[in-house]
Amino acid sequence: MRDKKPFVRNDEKPVQKQRFIIQALFSLLVIWIGIEFHFFIKSVEADEAVLAYRPPGVEGFLPISALMSLFYWALSGHIHLVHPAGLFILVAIILVSLLFGKSFCSWLCPIGYLVEMAGEFGEKLFGRRIKPWAWLDYPLRSLKYLLFFFFAYSIFTMTEADLKSFLDSPYNVIADIKMYDFFRNITLFSFVVITALLLLSVVIRNFWCRYLCPYGALLGMISFFSPMKIKRDKVTCIDCGLCTKACPSSIKVDKTGIVLSDECTSCMNCIDVCPVKDALIMKDMVTKKKIEKKYIFAAIVLTFIVVTGTAMLLGTWSSNVPDQEYKRLYKDRELIDHS
Ligand code: SF4
Ligand code: SF4
Repeated sequence: MRDKKPFVRNDEKPVQKQRFIIQALFSLLVIWIGIEFHFFIKSVEADEAVLAYRPPGVEGFLPISALMSLFYWALSGHIHLVHPAGLFILVAIILVSLLFGKSFCSWLCPIGYLVEMAGEFGEKLFGRRIKPWAWLDYPLRSLKYLLFFFFAYSIFTMTEADLKSFLDSPYNVIADIKMYDFFRNITLFSFVVITALLLLSVVIRNFWCRYLCPYGALLGMISFFSPMKIKRDKVTCIDCGLCTKACPSSIKVDKTGIVLSDECTSCMNCIDVCPVKDALIMKDMVTKKKIEKKYIFAAIVLTFIVVTGTAMLLGTWSSNVPDQEYKRLYKDRELIDHS
């Protein structure tokens, strides 16, 4: 057994407040996008001569279309311009995950934020965190991978021509409008399913993200290639177990040297609660250097802004679908539904 170093208190400021603020701001941005899109639809319905502004950010909620667009870009070298913002949001999320692990889930994703709030509420309500038994947890965690591989197989076996044909199709062009219709005319069944998922996230921490989100599955796999890893110093660690207790992803941080888990979201909760200076750090495994927490969260936000901002500057952010086409397809959308 190695000798322990003298105890030095961790006096670094926690970053959870900043994380909460960034999550909240990002969620507010998404709500704002939703409001703008609502007025866009109203102007389409009213057949106005000049339609209201259609916020391109709404395409962030079309991940399948974005994945197809990304694959089409890789095969053809061309950016498909029906939902280009969706493509660049996906690129930004992938890049953030490559650089900083699955950090999109805990720093930016509005659904992750909602699910986390539900979990916090549940903990306050029940006074503890409920975690399924390991024999149930592992198979449930594989569900999101099954969902992801189902979509990935369907997409990655398509030819360039098939992809173009789908991306150009009326179905894809008004996919955002159909998503809006889904929530506007939500069926009782869909409402019950969504409510059940939210309630399950109150009872079981991160239920949606941990077990069902295919996006999380993709980002979890990408995160293995990230150079940023949580590292525990076994010499200075006093085995208090606070990190494991604080981890929202139920990772046994106090039993590991380097956290290598597809569930780690780089939330840095574990580092914040660790009482010993540098017993837990975020380490760049390439340069072998500790990275300050404040730089990590600034870099996560900046990476997202740089990618989406570049798309805006290059003129590849807004859709090239003309207003007249939206109006025509909107009127025919029931037919498109059943075609
Ligand atoms: S290991 Fe640390 S950074 Fe990773 S999810 Fe758990 S608390 Fe967050
Ligand atoms: S919080 Fe975790 S890493 Fe820090 S001293 Fe306690 S057991 Fe060790």
